[in-house]
Amino acid sequence: MHICYIIAMEAEAKPFILRFGMKETEKYFSPLPCRLFQYKDTALNSTLSIVTLGRQHERDLVGCEAASVATLAAIERLKPDLIINSGTCGGWKRKGAEIGKVYVADSVMFHDRRIPGDDEWGTQGLGNYSVWKRSTDIATKLGVEMGRVTTGSSLDLQPCDEVIIEREGGELKDMEGAAVAFVCSLLNVPILLIKSVTDLCDDSAPTLESFLKNLKIASENLSEANASLLKLLL
Ligand code: SAH
Repeated sequence: MHICYIIAMEAEAKPFILRFGMKETEKYFSPLPCRLFQYKDTALNSTLSIVTLGRQHERDLVGCEAASVATLAAIERLKPDLIINSGTCGGWKRKGAEIGKVYVADSVMFHDRRIPGDDEWGTQGLGNYSVWKRSTDIATKLGVEMGRVTTGSSLDLQPCDEVIIEREGGELKDMEGAAVAFVCSLLNVPILLIKSVTDLCDDSAPTLESFLKNLKIASENLSEANASLLKLLL
């Protein structure tokens, strides 16, 4: 089995890469900025790949465009059996979120794509992509809750996005999930999303400050959960 993780930032991927002693295949996707780290287990006949989005303007790339490019390149070149999008997200205290809490997605959609026209345009804009059918079973086995991931291009929460998130029952807010799921939907590759909370959208602490403060603990919790997840899958 070949499992390919799409992870936006190096800080999110690092504990995981170190844990498995994964090696980078330098310039594998060149000239694209995304980076490949791999671990092969010949006994289990398994390959684990991590694709990070890479850098531009001296910072890690985040967001939908970079996530789509990386996912497309990863699927075309590596032909994985499963894509896992692992990353951090915002949550809501009143919906049960806590800093560092890990979730598996039960669904994923966009929250910042307002396309006037008819219902079909609205439906296409919001996406609502399927997640891997084993997601529920895996969440149960990992002992983590499930949540609805919604994706947009910004870290902040604008009132017009909040209207859509509330209407659609969004619980976990990120910047890549739906973009990765969109590419998977086109190419018929199953996707599982696993997220850990760095910031609370209904807390007084500024989002960026919380994000930076909690990135390490959220990434470590993700690495822990991913190690258990891989034990289940391989
Ligand atoms: N300026 C930040 C950049 C982080 S962008 C920095 O200095 O590091 C935030 C990343 O974490 C994205 O990849 C996104 O998927 C995720 N994320 C965490 N909390 C989020 C939130 N509240 N809203 C949207 N994305 C969030």
